[in-house]
Amino acid sequence: MTHATLFTNGRFWPLPAGAPEARALLARGGRIEALASDGRDLELPGVEVVDLGGRTAVPGPVDAHCHLVSYGMMCLREADLRGVRSLAELTERLRAHAERLRMCPGDGRWLLGRGFEQDLLQEGRWPTRHDLDAIAPGIPLRITRVCGHALVANTAALEAAGLDPAEPNGSFPEGVRTEEAMGPIFGATPKPTDAEWLEAARWACTEAARVGFVGVHSLMAHGREIRALVDLRREGPLPVRVQMHLPYSLVEEAGALGLRTGFGDDTLNVGAVKLFSDGSLGARTAALLEPYADDPTTRGELIYPPEELARRVRRVYEAGFQVCVHAIGDEAMQVTLDAMEAAADNAPAGLPPRIEHASLVNPEIVARMRRLGVGAAIQPQFARSDYWAPERLGVERARGCYAFRTLWEAGIPLAGSTDCPVEALDALAAVGQLVSRPEWSPQESLPLEAVLRIFSEGSYSIQGRTGGRFQAGDYADFVVLESDPRLVAPEDVEKIPVAMTVVGGEIRYAAE
Ligand SMILES: [Zn+2]
Repeated sequence: MTHATLFTNGRFWPLPAGAPEARALLARGGRIEALASDGRDLELPGVEVVDLGGRTAVPGPVDAHCHLVSYGMMCLREADLRGVRSLAELTERLRAHAERLRMCPGDGRWLLGRGFEQDLLQEGRWPTRHDLDAIAPGIPLRITRVCGHALVANTAALEAAGLDPAEPNGSFPEGVRTEEAMGPIFGATPKPTDAEWLEAARWACTEAARVGFVGVHSLMAHGREIRALVDLRREGPLPVRVQMHLPYSLVEEAGALGLRTGFGDDTLNVGAVKLFSDGSLGARTAALLEPYADDPTTRGELIYPPEELARRVRRVYEAGFQVCVHAIGDEAMQVTLDAMEAAADNAPAGLPPRIEHASLVNPEIVARMRRLGVGAAIQPQFARSDYWAPERLGVERARGCYAFRTLWEAGIPLAGSTDCPVEALDALAAVGQLVSRPEWSPQESLPLEAVLRIFSEGSYSIQGRTGGRFQAGDYADFVVLESDPRLVAPEDVEKIPVAMTVVGGEIRYAAE
């Protein structure tokens, strides 16, 4: 007999329109068998009972766009140096990390750290190679700045990269390298092994459940990340459901192997193929129709000429995959929609084209998205991080930036996401920051119930499927919260702790 669990004494919300109040949920074989307003109606002999203590459970959430495996690798491999305020603290964190990984001189591994900011250090200067030499003698050591555009290496790392440690790099102190000058150091850093990739995938899936996600759509950077998830799946069902979006570089190979969007099973399957059309607003590389307000000399740039993007979208379709395209600026949105429209006849049936980010829109773009049935994977946390949007775009144009309520009201299929590691992998932070928007654009916040549906049902509808509801037949996937989000102020939703994460009726995370 298939495994069944009765989750009782809970408040399951939101429910499908017209459904009666639900206080109990019976999960069998991974799916919802029934909901009831009284748990006693569902009690059966031999069924395990889990008492939710009167807490509220919400369906999903699913993170519809994150870089899960590379995030796992980053967390496992690199010490987190964000917020470090002195060289002593930097030393302490790196030594603790080396100890955790049981590193010793000569074992071939490098000690890595990420996220430092020299301006925060009380010493008021960059760390140098000499500072780093003192931390872990004999072990190559490399730390990257929070922006990713600068690093500091110790003597052993510089030598391993074939560089003269005493050779100056512009006006920077010894060991500091920026932009292209970082290349040799990255090149010399040992590549992770397959065992490390597997460990990264395992850790990241477990972490996703801990932070309140029942599933993710993960952007895969290369074949080794995919293999890590496949190897993990071979050990058993994944802790959370993972849909893998493949990089365009794999489209020919994956297509030739017969892989298609949807191939796989309930916990691991193939999603879309990902293309880029532009860069980011932060770096002023997002392609805009008009110049940047805070730098009129540029309007960013497209990654490919429009014809090339159109050719690639068609190629993705011909290979049998759904397409997703990174588009941030309004010009990028426009050429992406052009490409999707031109290739529409080749699109696989039932798989809506999706745009990742859809950061800057105007009424014409929104109308076209609707007409072409294009969905968007959105990142509520971007609105707070990019507080400078009104200066960068000008107040008028910024009204169309992260305009998620506008998209929602227009009926565009939306799926919520974090884009981790760009933003924190944190379900309630992502949900809460769409309920409560920053000061520069409060009008684009959405009602709590709509946001929860965007993070659950939305992640299915953007795949051309139905799911993510408290409804018989859907996966028994939900998150139990410590407080009812309906009873806290909108700005406090993001602080609600996760009590339990249930995937396929199995408890994948439970707070102590
Ligand atoms: Zn991303």
